Amino acid sequence: MPAVIRIEGLTKRFGDVIALDAVSLDVAENEFLALLGPSGCGKTTLLRAIAGLETPDAGQILIDAVNQNGRAPYQRPVNMMFQSYALFPHMTVADNVAFGLRQDGLKGAALTDRVREALARVEMEALGTRKPQQLSGGQKQRVALARCLAKRPRALLLDEPLAALDKHLRERTQLELMTLREKLGIAFIVVTHDQDEAMGMATRVAVMDRGRILQTGAPRDLYDRPLNRAVAGFFGHMNIWDGAVTGTDSVACAAGTVRVADPLPREGAMVAVAVRPEQITLRGPENDVGSNQITGVIAEVVYGGTVSTYFVRHGEHRLRVVRQNGAGAAFRRGDTVTASWPAAAVRVLAP
Ligand code: ATP
Repeated sequence: MPAVIRIEGLTKRFGDVIALDAVSLDVAENEFLALLGPSGCGKTTLLRAIAGLETPDAGQILIDAVNQNGRAPYQRPVNMMFQSYALFPHMTVADNVAFGLRQDGLKGAALTDRVREALARVEMEALGTRKPQQLSGGQKQRVALARCLAKRPRALLLDEPLAALDKHLRERTQLELMTLREKLGIAFIVVTHDQDEAMGMATRVAVMDRGRILQTGAPRDLYDRPLNRAVAGFFGHMNIWDGAVTGTDSVACAAGTVRVADPLPREGAMVAVAVRPEQITLRGPENDVGSNQITGVIAEVVYGGTVSTYFVRHGEHRLRVVRQNGAGAAFRRGDTVTASWPAAAVRVLAP
């Protein structure tokens, strides 16, 4: 699939802060890309730069192979939906949607047709004569979406689109956005700091930190194969130990000897090894000190409905274990347990 948006070496500084540090990224036509990362990592700046709301200090943005440097936001074939929706309160829903089209010189039947089409796409045709204050939060968002779609953009840019919604509406809107993107067949780029949201709706995620993209991939790939600590830490929970390579398949760390199926660097190299909490099995205490297991005391149990999270104290460390409720023996706080995990579950991370 050819790239609809190509970002090359994009750099943006605000005084001493490097908000974007030579970012390069391709976005394909049918992608739902989530920009994920901690507060201040540069997500919004990247989105705003694509929209033409920030001028980069270096690098370029190509949309359909056309360099966008120097083009004003309204001249770019992308549209940005803001968190606040930015609807005009004194205008009807239909006039809000028509606003940008009128500025482009559209009028008469062509204009009304386009407004109707955009409202139909978000199932809001019936509410065209209402004012924004007569709409629910979810409906306002759909009007804002319709206004973006009316201009038939090549990509839609969404800044924390679900942040203002309550939990139930958030789930529903997330599904709606996914369906809408499939129906429209245009690229969506969404900024979020919520990893569940990114994992749930995006076809690809770019994890950012301090103005750089650390890793991009399908949610499952990032979860299964994080390249470094920052991605591992930001995408779900992981138990991570620093250690030294002691053989072709072993690392010595605070969890004892950890056997690894993945390739390791040379003996003596420092690495971090990591295991997801759901890959760890708990059983009654055992004395033998084999590899890939530790014996410790359960310090905490957090009940979560379908699963429970166990924190097993082991020396200075706390091992996080997630178990399905109702599967196998129940363990309680204070129990001594042996936790073990297979070599194939161990990821080797850049420290
Ligand atoms: P959040 O999730 O908190 O919105 P973000 O990842 O979207 O964060 P950005 O808004 O892109 O982060 O900001 C990146 C960095 O650039 C931050 O350090 C921020 O303080 C800084 N920054 C952004 N806009 C400006 C500005 N107009 N003037 C000065 N500094 C800015």
